[in-house]
Amino acid sequence: MRIANLQGRGAFVFGNDGAERAAEVAAVSGGRFGPDVAQIYAKWDEFKHWATTLTEAGMQAHSFQLDRTLLGAPSPAPRQVFAFGLNYRAHADESGFEPPEHLPPVFTKYISSFSGPDTTVVLPAGGNVDWEVELVVIIGRELHRVEPGAVWDAVAGLTVGQDISERVSQLRPPAPQFGLGKSFPGFSPQGPWLVTPDELANPDDLELGCSIDGEDVQKGRTSDLIFPVPQLISGLSHTVTLYPGDVVFTGTPAGVGVGREPQRFLQPGESLSSWIEGIGTLHQKFVAAK
Ligand code: ZN
Repeated sequence: MRIANLQGRGAFVFGNDGAERAAEVAAVSGGRFGPDVAQIYAKWDEFKHWATTLTEAGMQAHSFQLDRTLLGAPSPAPRQVFAFGLNYRAHADESGFEPPEHLPPVFTKYISSFSGPDTTVVLPAGGNVDWEVELVVIIGRELHRVEPGAVWDAVAGLTVGQDISERVSQLRPPAPQFGLGKSFPGFSPQGPWLVTPDELANPDDLELGCSIDGEDVQKGRTSDLIFPVPQLISGLSHTVTLYPGDVVFTGTPAGVGVGREPQRFLQPGESLSSWIEGIGTLHQKFVAAK
């Protein structure tokens, strides 16, 4: 099942690549779920069970052509947002750190930086703006001290995320801080929709990557995560309580601009495409600050 946020309203997505159709969850369910997408996560287990009784024909009756310009982040107003660093060995290497033995470093991206999948992003003046394609997990159940084996069943779904990062403000002395440098407007595009784990042949092994104007800059597989999704969410839940709709950026593979020799950052006029196998693609265009 694929669920999109269409201007704040939850919608099923179905049909083929580039010709997707959508049907509002509230319409298909006769008002039982939705219309707000957040209301669907709040009752995720009940919703997921009900959705197993649906047929594509049942959705077709309420369907319309999907307009990607109306898409927002699949979970646009989570109670909590977590983002992990250094969760791929080759990226830890290029960042000059030892790979983590315990839970990787975690920070937040403030939700004012959230956007849908297709956007124009303003490059802050004087900044060095970098790319980080990431698998994003959306939580489907309240979790505390969950074991790894129980995690996938408690995940609502997966989506594509870009952890866009301004390195000057992130790394400025006296101590690096991640939240602000990664939370300029539009710095957390996500989408194009949520895909439930059962749709994927192996949700622990997905190819992901991104390209600038068609040139591949990152390519990896989520099977190379040092802490795969079950261990990551379990580890996080041993400290905090996770809530339905919470958003977790799981870390980026190698190939970011700050780790290159010479370093490279996004320039006005450049376009970034970020994708994950079986989920979809994000499209960001970058412009100079006025
Ligand atoms: Zn990141």
